[in-house]
Amino acid sequence: MQVPLLDLKKQYTAIREEVRAVTEEIYESQYFIMGPHVERLEKDIAAYCRTEQAIGVSSGSDALIIALMALGVGSGDLVLTTPYTFFATAGAVARVGARPVFVDIDPHTYNISPTLLAQGLETMPAGQREKVKAVIPVHLYGQCADMEPILKSAANYDLPVIEDAAQAIGAEYQGRRAGSMGSIGCFSFFPSKNLGAFGDGGVVTTGDRQLGETLRILRNHGAEPKYYHHIIGGNFRLDALQAAIVSIKLKHLDSWTAGRQKNAAAYRELFQAAGPAARLKLPVEKQGRHIYNQFVIAVPERRDDLRAYLQEAGIGTEVYYPVPLHLQKCFAGLDNGPGDFPAAEQAALQTLALPIFPELTQDQQAYTVDKIKQFFG
Ligand SMILES: *Cc1c(COP(=O)(O)O)cnc(C)c1O
Repeated sequence: MQVPLLDLKKQYTAIREEVRAVTEEIYESQYFIMGPHVERLEKDIAAYCRTEQAIGVSSGSDALIIALMALGVGSGDLVLTTPYTFFATAGAVARVGARPVFVDIDPHTYNISPTLLAQGLETMPAGQREKVKAVIPVHLYGQCADMEPILKSAANYDLPVIEDAAQAIGAEYQGRRAGSMGSIGCFSFFPSKNLGAFGDGGVVTTGDRQLGETLRILRNHGAEPKYYHHIIGGNFRLDALQAAIVSIKLKHLDSWTAGRQKNAAAYRELFQAAGPAARLKLPVEKQGRHIYNQFVIAVPERRDDLRAYLQEAGIGTEVYYPVPLHLQKCFAGLDNGPGDFPAAEQAALQTLALPIFPELTQDQQAYTVDKIKQFFG
């Protein structure tokens, strides 16, 4: 049996006719950049994320960069974030000339530890703390970071919070949606996210009118009006084709999320019954609505052997992420080393993402758990 990590073809079958109709319309109009499809998506995303404004951008990575730019973060500044995330989170900080300062994760949720964040801010020498200009928690795998204490720590030092919600559209924390809690929320429409485009795309959300205005202007080279530049922005635009396709998919998002949650529950039952659960750590659901962009188990021993064994059996898995950011070569200049963030380092050695996409069948899940059991048996 083949069990791919992600199969988007089944999803496409469900929306094919609608996608073809709207792309045909855009081809005929020859209107590709921004326009009514982007505006409509922005309205719908703002409503979905329960926030004031949404501004379509070119990718999740660009969402992070433009968020930092809008908050005035730049050369010489420091930004606190997690070392256990996709590269773009810290990459964006470096791209605007600032320096990421890592804070270790909660080993149960893999999200930034609010306790260590508070400690980090408290114990920082005042001269260094004055340079901190933002905090970026990541809602990893589709579960919100523990936002209440994070927002509190940030507020203590008057720091804006940028939520990296690239993996967490529709995730909730105490009834609030990802992207509606901090100053700015950053989302990605990369095809493997829960709401994916047919290419690259993203969106930023904010409840702050002024910030929203700045983000809109920055997105288009800082021009306001056209050809008059008070600030330097860039080309961070979302195109009409991607926006139209994402709009179609947004209508299905809740049912796809329900499919992922159902699959997560099914894995838990299968692991319970099969026994190998004792040797593994299943995802810990701590915060409200987990949208399961990934279903990530921890394998304390022989993780890579298990992965190879599953590969042999036709089962796709992935390691998100094998090298924590503080140990990446490009960040060697930050002077971090092995042992600095032990929870992130342990996660990098143990985590394994299993297939969780909505259309995954019960047979495929049973087969996957069976093979894991066989490996340990
Ligand atoms: C995917 C992702 C990004 C980047 O999004 P792109 O659209 O691929 O640029 C940023 N942060 C996290 C946590 C992500 O998972």
